[in-house]
Amino acid sequence: MRDASQIEDGKIDLIGPDVDQLAEKVKSLPLGILIEVAGRKLQKDFEPILERQLHRFFNYCMGVMHIGQRDMNWIRISKDAFAKGLRIKHLGIVLHAMIHEEFGAIADKVQVTLFTREEDVQRELIRARQVYAERDERLSGMTDESVDTFYSCELCQSFAPNHICVITPEKVGLCGAYSWLDTKAAYEIAPSGGNKPIPKGECLDSVNGEWASVNAYVNLRSNRTLERFSMYSMVNNPSTSCGCFECIMAVIPEANGIMVVHRDFSGMTPCGMTFTTLAGSVGGGIQTPGFLGVGKIYLTSNKFISADGGLRRLIWMPKELKELLGEKLIKRVREIGEPDLIDKIADETIATTSEELMVFLEKVKHPALTLPPLF
Ligand code: SF4
Ligand SMILES: [Zn+2]
Repeated sequence: MRDASQIEDGKIDLIGPDVDQLAEKVKSLPLGILIEVAGRKLQKDFEPILERQLHRFFNYCMGVMHIGQRDMNWIRISKDAFAKGLRIKHLGIVLHAMIHEEFGAIADKVQVTLFTREEDVQRELIRARQVYAERDERLSGMTDESVDTFYSCELCQSFAPNHICVITPEKVGLCGAYSWLDTKAAYEIAPSGGNKPIPKGECLDSVNGEWASVNAYVNLRSNRTLERFSMYSMVNNPSTSCGCFECIMAVIPEANGIMVVHRDFSGMTPCGMTFTTLAGSVGGGIQTPGFLGVGKIYLTSNKFISADGGLRRLIWMPKELKELLGEKLIKRVREIGEPDLIDKIADETIATTSEELMVFLEKVKHPALTLPPLF
């Protein structure tokens, strides 16, 4: 958000090479997108809402695919679109036009800068990550019990037509980019948009996190394909997954536990699949018991698969993800009375097969081994 005097409406800059200026073998570029918006009715709380629309806006463009959110994105441009003249600079024109078109009530001026040089992207990333941390922090202390309304997010129905995220204070959307506060604000800005209130009403099962109102809403808006949604279980009627998940979790039956892998980890995992293979089998808006796409920060929530044993079930995660969650994860394992748990969760330096994983879990006496069976 900027003051109106600081920006020029319609100014679109590309700093760095465009796709037609690359050597033949270069197939990808770093990309940073800085959108500066001014508007009398704009509020800082609206920033994440505008940011998340990029996913839709880019997927509307013929020959462009956008996956992910925040600082974990992939954008692809098809050869066909490239041959017809589409360039990275045009993405800025699309953003300017779409923000005016859909958010004219709050945005008066929009200026876009695109960066394709690594050093610029890295510099901007530092600022962006500070903002993401601030956004995640706003919710700390809020609980699901403290509110009487959850919110839906249906933004991903453009490519996963039956998918819905039900977002609560303690359960962020699986893309990690939409929190309860964001969906609440989005509904206030655009009541007919992709986020709707779901008054909690009668709770059917407080352990699994099942509400009659959530079931009814999900059934209606999933084109009647889903009947029951448990908010706190990945085994009993879990939430669906579209394609945007920051992380995927999978049950490892022989270990009576679950593993989690994030989008940036390209190596093998102990369930025998990489992130990409897992994403191919879990996405698309279907319910897949034993698998679940989640936002990173959900791993540190009080409600993290609380019906299935919570963090005590977690047996494997990439080292980088453990580091990314850092202090938050350390705090949570202390809160649940398992201060040594972090070191009992294996990573890729310890195990990449289920056999190696079992040896390690038994050696460290991981608590998952003594929990009740998952299925
Ligand atoms: S992943 Fe969920 S929360 Fe995120 S944009 Fe899609 S539907 Fe909304
Ligand atoms: Zn999605």
